[in-house]
Amino acid sequence: MSLSLIGRSLKSSATLKLNETAAILKAKGEPLIHLGGGEPKGKAPLDAITRAAAMLNNAEIRYSPPDGTVEAKQAVIRYTEEFYHVKPEPEQVMISVGAKQALFFAMQAVLNPQDEVIYPAPYWVSYGEMAKMIGAIGVPVYAEDGSFYPRLKDIELRVTSYTKAIIINSPNNPTGAYYSEEFISDIVKFCEKKNIYLIMDDIYHRLLFDGKKPYSVFDFAKNYDNKSKIIVINGVSKLYAMTGLRVGWAVANKEVIEVMVNLQSHTNSAPSPVLQAAAAGALNGVQSCVDALRETLENNRNVMYARLKAFNGIHVTKPNGTFYMFADFRAYEKDSIKLANFLLEKVRVTVVPGIEFGMEGFVRLSYNTTIKDITEGIERIKWALDPNSPNEIYIGERKLVRDWVWQNI
Ligand code: PMP
Repeated sequence: MSLSLIGRSLKSSATLKLNETAAILKAKGEPLIHLGGGEPKGKAPLDAITRAAAMLNNAEIRYSPPDGTVEAKQAVIRYTEEFYHVKPEPEQVMISVGAKQALFFAMQAVLNPQDEVIYPAPYWVSYGEMAKMIGAIGVPVYAEDGSFYPRLKDIELRVTSYTKAIIINSPNNPTGAYYSEEFISDIVKFCEKKNIYLIMDDIYHRLLFDGKKPYSVFDFAKNYDNKSKIIVINGVSKLYAMTGLRVGWAVANKEVIEVMVNLQSHTNSAPSPVLQAAAAGALNGVQSCVDALRETLENNRNVMYARLKAFNGIHVTKPNGTFYMFADFRAYEKDSIKLANFLLEKVRVTVVPGIEFGMEGFVRLSYNTTIKDITEGIERIKWALDPNSPNEIYIGERKLVRDWVWQNI
C-alpha cells in the first residue's frame, strides 16, 4: 500500500497498546496486575463534573473559540498566577486537547523540517514521534554517569546550529526524577543565551514527594516578557484524574500562541466546551483531591521502592514524583521487550519495556494502583525471575510451578 514516508516511520504508542492488552486480558477474567498504567485510578473531582453537567443540562453546546473558552483560559491564567508567579495575558494561553496536543502544536510552531529538539533520556515516548511528524529530529541526551540526571554539559555537547528547542519534563516520565532548581535555572539561562525555546512539560508538576514543592520555570528567567522563549505545557489529566477528558494548555509568548491557535483551528478546532468547563471546574475547585492523590502516591512509592530494593539484582532510583519507577533489570534480562512479554505471559503482570523510553534493560513500573497490586505484582515478578524464590505460586486460583530459570527465558 502507498503510505507517506512520515506515516510509515511512526511507531504506535507502546503505553496505549499495553493498556489495551491489559484491558482485554482483564475482560477475559485473567488475574492480571497492571503495573504499566499511566493514569490515576480515582474519580474526577466533583467540581469538574458539576460544571460539565451544568453545561450539558443547558443543552447549548457550540464550537469553542479556537484558543479555548474564556472560562477555561481564565482558570489557566489564575492557576499560572498561583503556581508559576506570572500572570499571562489571554493571548498567551491556548487550551488544547490534552497536554499531548499542546506539545505537538508547540513543536510544530517552532521547528522547521531538519531542526533538532533536545530532551533528557530516558524520555516520554511521544517526543521523538512528534518531532518525526513534522520532519524534525528528536535528540535524546544521556547523562554521562548513567544516571537519570543529565548535566547541562551533557546537553551542551548535543547542541548544534539546528537545535531550536529543549524539552524538560520534571518530574519525569518514566523515572520520576525531579531536576534540581540549579539545573532548571542553568537550562533557562542557557536557552536565553542561545536563543533556544525551552518547552517545559509540567504535566506531573504537583505530584512531588518528600516535601518537595513545584518550582516555576519563570522564576529563573532573567527578563521574562512577551518575547520569552519559554513555553509551559500542562493539563488536568494526571493531577485531577481526568485523562479521558483530554484537556491541556500552553502558556507562551503571543506569537507562538497565535501560530498554535492557527494550527488548532485548522485541525481539531478546539477541545469540547463541555470538557473545558470540567477542566475549569477542576482548576478552580477544591484542591484537596490533588493533595490526596499525591499522598497516596508517595505511600505507594515507598512500598514499591522497599519491595524492589529487597529484590536481589534489581537497581532502583527513588523517584521524587509522578507515579512511575524505572528499574534496572539488566542483571536478569537485557532485552526489555522480551522481559515484559515474559512477565505478562508467565505471571500476568504488565510493565512497560524501558527501550520505549530510550533505555534498554530497564522497565517502567507504575505505582498508581493499590498496595495489594504493588506487593503482589512485585512478588510475582520476583518469583518468575529469582531462582531462590519458592517453586510454586498462586496467581488467582491458578497454582503455577516454575519450570524455568531466568538465564534461559
Ligand atoms: N507528557 C508526559 C510526560 C506524559 O506522561 C503525558 C501522558 N502520558 C502527557 C504529556 C500527555 O498528557 P495528556 O493526557 O494531557 O495529553
